[in-house]
Amino acid sequence: MKKTVINEITIVCEPPNVPFYIRNKGQEAIVEYYESWVKEFEEFMRDHRSQDPISLSVERHTIDVCSFCGLEWDVDDVGFPFCCKEAQEEYKTQNNQTILVNVSIPLPTTPTD
Ligand SMILES: [Zn+2]
Repeated sequence: MKKTVINEITIVCEPPNVPFYIRNKGQEAIVEYYESWVKEFEEFMRDHRSQDPISLSVERHTIDVCSFCGLEWDVDDVGFPFCCKEAQEEYKTQNNQTILVNVSIPLPTTPTD
């Protein structure tokens, strides 16, 4: 069965908004503003007496994996899993149907008599 697991986290820091007079100067000015802000933030971390409000959060990134084999969850158009026999058997049980598998078998192009 499909289960969702955390595969990565991102720590997010929300810096203050760019002042209007900087935004009007264009992208390069905005990047330079934040480069300067990052250096100030590093100094802030060393000097915690600063009263600037800093917002930090942790974002969870998840992926769907198979609960049987742990591989990333991947299914066909009808939801039939590719990863392992256990997941396929579970699908068949839950959907109570026979799975038709399309197999191409090359045939000879000339008679074989
Ligand atoms: Zn599996």
